[in-house]
Amino acid sequence: MEDKDDSSVRKMAELLRQGATMLADACPQCGSPLFKVKDDVYCAKCDRRIVYAESDEEVESHPVKTLIPELRETLITKLKELTEVVDAETDTDSLTKLANLMVLLLQALHKLENMGT
Ligand SMILES: [Zn+2]
Repeated sequence: MEDKDDSSVRKMAELLRQGATMLADACPQCGSPLFKVKDDVYCAKCDRRIVYAESDEEVESHPVKTLIPELRETLITKLKELTEVVDAETDTDSLTKLANLMVLLLQALHKLENMGT
């Protein structure tokens, strides 16, 4: 984790040396400051170009919060899939693993529900 932060800081310094300017905006993915390099907007931490969404809706100041509904949907979809797998599974060991996974997904879902409010 520290290494990663360190390399992103180095990358930021490198961008600045190349004449990039730091923007007031934060990366929608990781929240790091964005850099303008010529006509591109770049996130040093994600190491990729950021394509701005046209609508204001998609550029949110709390990137994690915007992900919650999507994550929630994904978890629910996975739980539904898992239910079908459990239904068809007869092996006890496999069922135990599936049940554990289901509990983890439910816990994650529960945490998300709390974050959303
Ligand atoms: Zn980023």
